[in-house]
Amino acid sequence: MSSESRPRVFVARRISEASLERIGRQTDADVWADDLPPPRDELLRHVDGVDGVLSMVTERVDDELLERAGPRLKVVSNYGVGVDHIDVAACTRRGIAVGNTPGVLTETTADFAFALLLAAARRVPEGHDFVREDRWKAWSPTLLNGPDVHHATLGIVGFGRIGREVAKRGRGFDMRVVYYSRQSAGPEDEARLGARRVPLDELLAASDFVSLHVPLSPETHHLMNRETLGKMRRSAILVNTSRGPVVDSDALYEALQTGVIAGAALDVTEPEPMAGSHQLVSLPNCLIVPHIASASFGTRAKMASIATENLLAGLAHAPLPACVNPEVYAPHT
Ligand code: NAP
Repeated sequence: MSSESRPRVFVARRISEASLERIGRQTDADVWADDLPPPRDELLRHVDGVDGVLSMVTERVDDELLERAGPRLKVVSNYGVGVDHIDVAACTRRGIAVGNTPGVLTETTADFAFALLLAAARRVPEGHDFVREDRWKAWSPTLLNGPDVHHATLGIVGFGRIGREVAKRGRGFDMRVVYYSRQSAGPEDEARLGARRVPLDELLAASDFVSLHVPLSPETHHLMNRETLGKMRRSAILVNTSRGPVVDSDALYEALQTGVIAGAALDVTEPEPMAGSHQLVSLPNCLIVPHIASASFGTRAKMASIATENLLAGLAHAPLPACVNPEVYAPHT
């Protein structure tokens, strides 16, 4: 294909070499080489007139961006499963297909939610700091005690792909698992996963650990706020690997500082990125890591591969292997 007839695409970060090579063979690709995301003005400049965009959670895809890209844009392929940063309705109105990467990061993210749960409960980061700071002078029966994870109650909010995998891990630790979702998982899945659906208030009151796995939406924005945090056990630990704004950061700070709940472990934060000077970072009972739940070597390669498939399919007017708005393919009436 001559470079004039090749579609132009903007790839918002360096993804796996194999995927970049594949994109490069079929398109005229502009790849943002920096580790940090393109600043907004640069992003808008780079998408001007492209046929496809491969974006990340850091790129807001809204009317302004779509307008700037112009009428050639056929596909927005997101490297990630959550699409709360993409105005999907605006894409659909313009006939632009939106792809994401469901499934391939499910187990990796569930593993990480469980890693956070274990680390916060058993005070792993505090123990590490203790040794690093040369404060370890002797074994002590009272040193860094924490709650048991095994046989505790695990409350899962959002019982989709990732929530169900977290349930499996909880069962492996002999935990009692309850969940909250708008719809039931059904008797078969409930039996298989050993999980029981309960109202949110009941889940919050019963759980030693609450793990969040809902997508961010107007309905789930600040789902965990002063009122709902107040319904949790004083001994409970909140784990968030969903999206930062599902938890009201100010309310969480207050709850952690005043002992309304015992601890929190966050992969995602509000705001994101969270500055080291943020009040939550200073709390010993709040473990925060920089949005790395899906960051395993294998999963990142698979995410790159699906995002590439979606991008190339969209450019070829073919159905995306993982499409968020399949209604774009509906015949016009
Ligand atoms: P999923 O399979 O779509 O599951 C989401 C679940 O949330 C669904 O079962 C849905 O069930 C439930 N839900 C949606 N709205 C709800 C509401 N208002 N109240 C209660 N439950 C609600 O998605 P997934 O693949 O498990 O991913 C979940 C989210 O995790 C993603 O959207 C993404 O934001 C986040 N994520 C984060 C990372 C990370 O790196 N930290 C990695 C992957 C994913 P009902 O419709 O029955 O309510």
